[in-house]
Amino acid sequence: MTFSVPQERKLLTELPGPNSVALQERRLKSVSRGAGTLANIYMDHGSGAILVDVDGNQLIDLGCGIGVTTIGHANEDVAAAASAQASKLTHTLFTVTPYENYVRVAEKLAEITPGDFEKRSILVNSGAEAVENAVKIARKFTGRRAIVALDHAFHGRTNLTMAMTYRPWPERAGMGPFPGEIYSVPVSYPYRDGLSGEEAAAKTIDYIETHIGASEIAAFFVEPIQGDGGIVIPAPGYFTALSEYCTANGIVFVADEIQAGIARTGAWYSIEHHGVVPDLVTTAKGIAGGFPLAAVTGRAEIMDAVQPGGIGGTFGGNPVSTAAALAVFDLIERDNLLEAAQNVERMLWARIGDWAERFDFVGDVRGKGAMFGIEFVLPGTKTPNPEALTFVLKYATTHGVIVLDAGSWDSVMRIMPSVVISEELIDDAASVLEEAFAALAAQVD
Ligand SMILES: *Cc1c(COP(=O)(O)O)cnc(C)c1O
Repeated sequence: MTFSVPQERKLLTELPGPNSVALQERRLKSVSRGAGTLANIYMDHGSGAILVDVDGNQLIDLGCGIGVTTIGHANEDVAAAASAQASKLTHTLFTVTPYENYVRVAEKLAEITPGDFEKRSILVNSGAEAVENAVKIARKFTGRRAIVALDHAFHGRTNLTMAMTYRPWPERAGMGPFPGEIYSVPVSYPYRDGLSGEEAAAKTIDYIETHIGASEIAAFFVEPIQGDGGIVIPAPGYFTALSEYCTANGIVFVADEIQAGIARTGAWYSIEHHGVVPDLVTTAKGIAGGFPLAAVTGRAEIMDAVQPGGIGGTFGGNPVSTAAALAVFDLIERDNLLEAAQNVERMLWARIGDWAERFDFVGDVRGKGAMFGIEFVLPGTKTPNPEALTFVLKYATTHGVIVLDAGSWDSVMRIMPSVVISEELIDDAASVLEEAFAALAAQVD
């Protein structure tokens, strides 16, 4: 892979620089405050794992716009595919007069999603829209109403998906009422509950039996690795037990792979690490190199339960977005990006794997592929330490490293670089974070 920007961090001004500061002043007068920003550093272009801001500073991107640019920024093959399509045909609406790109993406999704059975897909614009459609499809198929999601889940920001999202602040506060028949149930969180997968599943199932009743449930949504919830990776065996419970009780088991899917964790889909085959899978973020595209894919009999016209949308499966997705699929195969993600995992373990032993305010380091979390706690306890995260995030962003926050207590740092990131960049970014930890320790003393 070739990069149009050298893969190195380079700071020419303070961050944010003067051009970012000027844009921020304009933005405050034109953009809703509700669209809050992690770092007010305005970007101009990017390549690979580097973002270049409007002042010419080069930042290491460990966030990928929340796990979207998994294959790197402004990849030239994806850009070429999208631009060729943009000058050929930009829209017909698939449900009026169809086109091949949409069919090709659906064929590819059937191939790469887990499960050796007949599958169908629907393409939409956003992750939340995919989750909403999965709810509709599961309800239609089962004739049931209740929807179950896990504690610490994030499923989106529309009214229905907000109701399926765990924490009230800032996603939900003051914006109800929310739809009924949505239930949050306990998740397996090994660092916090210390339970085995079987024990945690028994607890989840007991909660369902005593609060909801299996026969009422249309679908059970899980993130195989919770993203916004704080890179929570349930204990081995947890999802096996839950999926068996769903099968035995006629519940549609849905893996929300919007954040962890498409190569990010070293597999096409992160549920593969748990050895479980879901009935439906939702895909979005990383699928099209930054173009808006999302999908629901799953068992043909479930997906085909919906009457023609029952699901769809004007822009869903747009010709340009699907062209970009096809280029992303090719790239992942051509450049062995599943393996690249596994390499990133090895490099991250080697560089940051001992941080919980080295730093007393780091409680846990966990991750899979290019998806890691660092949980901050008050030293000597497991009490969440959001102040430490705020401090480290601020230090990192003002020193040219973009990292993300996460977790129901705002105490988990999310590290989600492109899988094409180099070992040198990981090392440099980790050094900046170590400087941040030293500054934090000095401040506390
Ligand atoms: C981001 C995300 C969504 C919502 O996707 P949008 O494209 O922002 O609507 C849903 N589920 C998970 C797991 C996500 O990470």
